[in-house]
Amino acid sequence: MTDRVAIVTGAARGIGAATAKRLAHDGFAVGVLDLDQEQAAKTAAEITGDGRRAIAVSADVSDAASVSAAVSKVADELGNPTVLVNNAGVTRDNMLFKMTENDWDTVLGVHLRGAFLMSRAVQAYMTEAKWGRIVNLSSTSALGNRGQANYAAAKAGMQGFTKTLAIELGKFNVTVNAIAPGFIVTEMTKATADRLKMSFEDFQAAAATQIPVARVGRPEDIAHTVSFLVSEGASFVSGQVIYVAGGPKA
Ligand code: NAP
Repeated sequence: MTDRVAIVTGAARGIGAATAKRLAHDGFAVGVLDLDQEQAAKTAAEITGDGRRAIAVSADVSDAASVSAAVSKVADELGNPTVLVNNAGVTRDNMLFKMTENDWDTVLGVHLRGAFLMSRAVQAYMTEAKWGRIVNLSSTSALGNRGQANYAAAKAGMQGFTKTLAIELGKFNVTVNAIAPGFIVTEMTKATADRLKMSFEDFQAAAATQIPVARVGRPEDIAHTVSFLVSEGASFVSGQVIYVAGGPKA
């Protein structure tokens, strides 16, 4: 795998950082892409400190010019990217009657427009190489979640986007799959605990009581699933949504 290059968006922290580190461990050179350049540089430094190849790239996935520049930078400095993990995400939770247009546009913009712009840019390298892997981050919230009309719509949209790209890109030996995580311990779930005015520990304990395997998830649980989906052996798995939620969420 040493000549293959992966881009992970939102890789400064959380699920994205764990995924970037896991793919580097698997032998990919990794473009660690995030809005947060400083934190992305720390993730990349951890990877290079381990003797593996990575660069940090500052970009906003919802901006076409930024995406184009970031993907070109990865191609110039690491090589042509043929693995893409669309992981960057934000929440702007609110009940519908309080949800602003900005809350809606921001969430749809980062998740859906971001995945669209990134995939459109990177597929050029994949189709040329006649090999590629795209993994999109959906969520159990795609099935509906109080206070998350924007996020649920985006995450359900990721599933339709995934299945359509799988149909379009399959003939180029490019697989496209989605992972729908349940509760994963990251800054994102911490922010939800803060919003509900609960301690993060209590919030995690309450969540674990609702999960069949009786624990909350860790970023490494998702990174492991990404590692499988981008592997050579997963070449016949495409257009799927894998719920990684400690139980049968879908
Ligand atoms: P996180 O800790 O909040 O990390 C998200 C990362 O994405 C941050 O580093 C953030 O950078 C970056 N980002 C946000 N907007 C961006 C943009 N426009 N361009 C580039 N990067 C951007 O979140 P996480 O929990 O690891 O979540 C990762 C993915 O998994 C998301 O798609 C999320 O929806 C999904 N997910 C998470 C859970 C969960 O329980 N945690 C469950 C289901 C699905 P900044 O800090 O600079 O904003």
